[in-house]
Amino acid sequence: MEKRVFNFSAGPSMLPVEVLEQAQRELVCYPSSGMSVMEMSHRSKMFESILAKAKADLKELMHIPDNYKILFLQGGGSTQFAMVPLNLMNKNNKADYVITGQWAKKAAEEAKKYGKVNVVASSAETTFDRIPQLDSSKFDPDADYFYITLNNTVYGTRWTELPDTGNVTLVGDMSSSILSEEIDVTKFGLLYAGAQKNLGPAGVTVVIIREDLLGNAMDFTPTMLRYDIHAENDSLYNTPPTYGIYFMGLVFDWVKRQGGVAAIQKINEHKASLLYDFLDASSLFKGTVVPKDRSLMNAPFILPTDELNAKFIKEADALGFVNLKGHRTVGGMRASIYNAMPVEGVEKLVAFMKKFELENK
Ligand code: PLP
Repeated sequence: MEKRVFNFSAGPSMLPVEVLEQAQRELVCYPSSGMSVMEMSHRSKMFESILAKAKADLKELMHIPDNYKILFLQGGGSTQFAMVPLNLMNKNNKADYVITGQWAKKAAEEAKKYGKVNVVASSAETTFDRIPQLDSSKFDPDADYFYITLNNTVYGTRWTELPDTGNVTLVGDMSSSILSEEIDVTKFGLLYAGAQKNLGPAGVTVVIIREDLLGNAMDFTPTMLRYDIHAENDSLYNTPPTYGIYFMGLVFDWVKRQGGVAAIQKINEHKASLLYDFLDASSLFKGTVVPKDRSLMNAPFILPTDELNAKFIKEADALGFVNLKGHRTVGGMRASIYNAMPVEGVEKLVAFMKKFELENK
């Protein structure tokens, strides 16, 4: 097999090699079926059991209570930017948003098409290097929901403490942090995540929604964008992303084999501290996020000049540390260290950064 690199991409990103190998073994013939999962009817007993197992495993891994529905949809995180307001902005036609980066901004822009968006706080002024301070007097007690992005992929921040929104339903985008750390699902009315970071191939979007929020979509909501339709049909209203659901199921099994989300969180904290401890001690590299809000998944950092940034990325790439270039709006570097990035990948990256520092002081 060709040598695999350490892929620090923000997404699609690395997947556990043992999961890829299992999928490879089962690609042509899924056990006892004589066919690939890709070739299976979504109405077959066999696929229905793949779907049911994936749902049950996610429920177990995230401790999702019985009064929540788990939906496997298509359209990525960006479709949720519209589905959330279309389905939830249904009483007072307004919602609170906290702008912590470009994904929250895009979500708020989309929501404005359907109702009033109240921006409660934003960290735009400091280039989203932190989660902004919240002033609860700016919260709208009549908002239909309160929207946050749990982990900000581009800027490398995350919410470590959830806002107290009282009776207002909390909605969270966890596209870049699902299954990376323990989270109390009961604090949320709705959570969603695109698959392509911690769950599997792009194409599936997981939605976890409290049942009482179903059934109030705006009249003109397209059928495919109604949570209640997908919930009533157990994610089989139309042909779901069958292969992605199967693959995600393999990733759920892998997370269980690692000891579940709590165990993965410990590993993620270890990986992140290897990187952040080095950045804090370095006289050349600098992290761009205020320490208390640092993400466990995406670590942006910079060197003193654009020339050094470019040199670092080039040399890292040649050594098999790929996709370290920062987002175009931040510059510098960003190491995305999702669940599947082995500790060894971060250790080796940090060793290379130390060497680079000595050679370029
Ligand atoms: N939300 C977050 C936090 C993301 O990181 C991304 C993509 O990287 C999205 C939403 C958009 O997801 P998609 O590309 O699946 O529409």
